[in-house]
Amino acid sequence: MEKIVSLTKRRGFVFPSSEIYGGFANSYSYGPYGAELKKNIKDLWWKKVVQNRADMVGLDGPILLNPKLWEASGHTEGFNDAMVDCKECKKRYRADHLVEKATGKDLEGQLEEMTKVLKEEKVKCPDCGKSNWTDARNMNMMFKTQMNGFDGDVYLRPETAGAIFIEFKNIIDSMRVKVPFGIAQIGKAFRNEIVAGNFIFRLREFEQMEIEYFVDPEFKWEKMFEEWLEFQEEFAADLGAKKEDLRRYEHPKEKLSHYSKKTVDIEYKFPFGFSELFGLAHRGDFDLKSHSDASGQKLEYFDAQNNRRFTPHILEPTFGLDRSILVTLVSAYTEEKLEDGSERVVMKFPKKLAPVKCAIFPLLKNKPELVGKARELYDALKSQFMCEFDDNGNIGKRYRRQDEIGTPYCVTVDFDTLEDDTVTVRDRDTMEQQRIKIEELEGFLKDNLK
Ligand code: ATP
Repeated sequence: MEKIVSLTKRRGFVFPSSEIYGGFANSYSYGPYGAELKKNIKDLWWKKVVQNRADMVGLDGPILLNPKLWEASGHTEGFNDAMVDCKECKKRYRADHLVEKATGKDLEGQLEEMTKVLKEEKVKCPDCGKSNWTDARNMNMMFKTQMNGFDGDVYLRPETAGAIFIEFKNIIDSMRVKVPFGIAQIGKAFRNEIVAGNFIFRLREFEQMEIEYFVDPEFKWEKMFEEWLEFQEEFAADLGAKKEDLRRYEHPKEKLSHYSKKTVDIEYKFPFGFSELFGLAHRGDFDLKSHSDASGQKLEYFDAQNNRRFTPHILEPTFGLDRSILVTLVSAYTEEKLEDGSERVVMKFPKKLAPVKCAIFPLLKNKPELVGKARELYDALKSQFMCEFDDNGNIGKRYRRQDEIGTPYCVTVDFDTLEDDTVTVRDRDTMEQQRIKIEELEGFLKDNLK
């Protein structure tokens, strides 16, 4: 993990945010290559989830929403995590995480039990090593703010799903959707996590890619539930995750929310252990019913063919975008020993996700005819692919830099190019080089970057 954190900073993927002011609470900026990678992951998801499916539509809702929504969904009352403070060093922890780490017991939601275990079993503070705890207590994880023209507290949305439920009626009134269908959204969510950490795994400001999929309450949902799980695993594979680094965790029945028929997490083997990457929940009719009751608006679907009116049930596949980026970075990171004894670090991103697709080099910086020809090539390709022009240092150093940012192809313009209009194309993974005619280069890249 340390190697990844250091490479991503050095090479412009992820910067600790507000660094010039001493940093700020585990927040990060995606640098130029990180922003590109993030965009490619979002585009791939949107393509698979919305563009390629006739049963899905997209949405882009606001972050600030009427707080009645969060009352109806139960977030104002119950979107809590348990916190506990060390009285000695004043460090704050997630009480359930502390108990589970020390004793293996999962006491999520049971405040008194957690307090008892922490005190009776003298669980030590991971920071100062003493055992002197406050009682465990609940903390609501929503960020509060105020808004001109509105009386009372407003919240930064703690998940993107809420914005989807409240547009259910507008979508069925304005689009030709027929149950079963889904609404997809990508956007920011905010949670005042008690402890953020593990790089971009647990942030307080993060992005989700969520789907609410509406089905007939009488529909046999089990097969579709399995298909969505397989889709999530396939998406993790698209990010570069190996099969053996993925596993499913089904929430035990007694821990499910009262409305959920089934919830499964897709976990990935991060460098700090298996942890949740994506989730899939059967939410029954809880969301549409709650918002219907609270708003007084009927959130139902009319099945004209069978002359039936019903409240659809919901399957909710949810994908963390920042965790997807972390999976992509972790899976891509490769250290290789080369035949000549030297070593290289190469980010073996799936080619379609690589931030830069093609780097173009003139062999020598001080030969205007080579530089001019390479610039011409760069100008011709850059509207098609994310390209980079580099004439700094020797070719070996340029390759090393492109390997570290995961560029699939490096193209070098040399003296032969001036004679026969061919260039050297070097493959990131095999490091093999081949001569390709300039006029064929665009087609070659198109074929090989899929
Ligand atoms: P966790 O148990 O890790 O806190 P969760 O079960 O609360 O996660 P969900 O409410 O199911 O998470 O959120 C959906 C997805 O959003 C998660 O699968 C995860 O990928 C992502 N996510 C949730 N919390 C965070 C966070 N603090 N930082 C980054 N991504 C997050």
